[in-house]
Amino acid sequence: MRVLVIEDDVMLGRALVQALDDAGISVDWVRDGPLGAEAAAIGGHGFILLDLGLPGRSGLEILRGLRAQGDRRPVLVITARDGLDDRIAGLDLGADDYLVKPFEVKELLARMRAVLRRHGGQATSVLSTNEIALDLSSHEVRYRGASEVLPAREFALLQALLERPGTILSRSQLEERLYGWGEEVESNAIDVLIHYVRRKFDKDIIRNIRGAGWMIPK
Ligand code: CA
Repeated sequence: MRVLVIEDDVMLGRALVQALDDAGISVDWVRDGPLGAEAAAIGGHGFILLDLGLPGRSGLEILRGLRAQGDRRPVLVITARDGLDDRIAGLDLGADDYLVKPFEVKELLARMRAVLRRHGGQATSVLSTNEIALDLSSHEVRYRGASEVLPAREFALLQALLERPGTILSRSQLEERLYGWGEEVESNAIDVLIHYVRRKFDKDIIRNIRGAGWMIPK
């Protein structure tokens, strides 16, 4: 999954990028309101972390704009300790959850998982079909009786495919999901990841649809 961080506080922004990166999540970070609105409008991020007090345009305005356009992507609002009215306004405008600064990164990641579960209509942090199960908190993958804890990028590849079982994702869609802006992506990066995953489990774990992309069957 790729996350968009809209946060003008440089220390906090850096800490968020580092924490998400450590969790195997690719991150794009913008530091003001107008750039935030632009980045959010492009789409491509599965989750938005949104500070409310931003130069140029407030987080609430950005959120209002997204929801007005029918954009239902998960948004977690980050607010100052004294921002009770802002938090309420954010929830009323369609934020999925909020965190008050300062917060522990562990809590942020747990809340993001909880929001994603609610969006997926799931009761636990496991994405699964009949044959494969991904544990989103431990990065453990179970497939046909085998189980392995996968490195971040390989796990993110399976997660992208398993969020929409039966749907083909192209190379560029997968690259967009797995890599941040400005990140160098080798032309065969996706093939290499797929090779590693198949070697750990079985060739069938990811289906290749010639000329179109890859998918995990429902
Ligand atoms: Ca701020």
